[in-house]
Amino acid sequence: MELSVDMLPERRQHMQRVGLPACNRPTIPGVVSQRACVLYGARWMLATIKDALHLIHGPVGCAYYSETVRKKRYEVFSTALDEKDIIFGAGAKLAAAIREGVRLRPAAAAVIVYTTCAAGLIGEDVTAICRQAEANLGVPVVPVNCPGFCGVSQGDGHEAAALALLEHFIGRGGEGSPLAKSVNILGEYDIQGDLKEIEGLLQRLGVEVLCTVSGRATVAGLARAHRAGLNLVHCGRTGRRLALEMAERFGIPWRKVSFFGLAETAAALRTIADVFHCPEKATWLEEEIESAREKASPYLERLAGKRVGLFFGASRMGSMARAFRELGMEVVFCGSQFGCREDYAESRSRLGRETLLVDDAHERELEEFLHRYRPHLLAGGSREQFMAHKLGVPFLVFPQETAPYAGFNGFVNLAREVATLIGAPVWRLAAGSPAPG
Ligand code: SF4
Repeated sequence: MELSVDMLPERRQHMQRVGLPACNRPTIPGVVSQRACVLYGARWMLATIKDALHLIHGPVGCAYYSETVRKKRYEVFSTALDEKDIIFGAGAKLAAAIREGVRLRPAAAAVIVYTTCAAGLIGEDVTAICRQAEANLGVPVVPVNCPGFCGVSQGDGHEAAALALLEHFIGRGGEGSPLAKSVNILGEYDIQGDLKEIEGLLQRLGVEVLCTVSGRATVAGLARAHRAGLNLVHCGRTGRRLALEMAERFGIPWRKVSFFGLAETAAALRTIADVFHCPEKATWLEEEIESAREKASPYLERLAGKRVGLFFGASRMGSMARAFRELGMEVVFCGSQFGCREDYAESRSRLGRETLLVDDAHERELEEFLHRYRPHLLAGGSREQFMAHKLGVPFLVFPQETAPYAGFNGFVNLAREVATLIGAPVWRLAAGSPAPG
């Protein structure tokens, strides 16, 4: 089926039915992309380190933009740069802001300094200023090089954050023997209790979570993360780089796993049991799958054969696509703002040929997909929510806002919420809606 979206020729290669879409490229000028900037990508990964002081070295607008991450507000400080600072320099202002922040939050275990476009334009040696402040104050002061313009998407901010974690936090706890049956979960952000679900499952295998990067990370926890026996990469885009480097530096093996959907959760637990040589501990998995299916069955009956479109950040595409298929739904298109080749390859392997994969779609394209494929549900970030509602299409916000979706219980929650959204009587009032209620 030909797409009729009135698009620039360069956009065509970003939409593929058979192979993988072009990705990791700058957004075409003039296209209103749904992407975020590099600073925001760094904040996405680091905002949850709760015992650090977070200082945005830039205008207050950047601080305001990046204080809310995954719909949750975190305390940030800002150097509040203005025109004068850009002309005459802002090094002294940054040093003073670090001092002031530490005075106000004396218990902070580290100061994280994020650079912004304005700081990048000034071009001062922020690393040297941080080093000097660290020597003066006796607390680690960590620069994160993430001016908004210095990459193609928030994915480059994830890279900058990973570098900062590797250089300044992970493994700073000195030597120490590996801790038996312990894992780090890389790229897990503990949304609506997901981590508790995952921890509960790991506990049944007798496996301890040492550090979660960075849904529940602390400076001390990161310092001893190098002692884990295994790294689990839950989000490829934010966790893969950390896992590769930690394998090289500390010899920690890693596995890419997902705890979304029944099959993926069971496969993840079997993999972990195999690594720790305790496959007999995973004998309860079939019962859990059966029980989750039974609890979800009233919803599965209502969802069988319904169509869904997915448009996520990046690497949840593949595992969530499989979870929606387990709900009995047909994934009619699947896209991401800034997925990389591995993310699209994983999605293609879960979806097979014919499902449209789309990279960096803009609102006009998404609108066209809704008209063309008439999904009963669109699942994605909050930016697309109102466009979907205006077109009469139920919308599931992901990352989710109500209950955990991870693990076996999470699958039941997902089924219930999707069935409730699609079955809401309000959609019958949306005449001409692409999604019949
Ligand atoms: S793009 Fe630049 S100016 Fe805009 S929020 Fe990001 S860092 Fe700040």
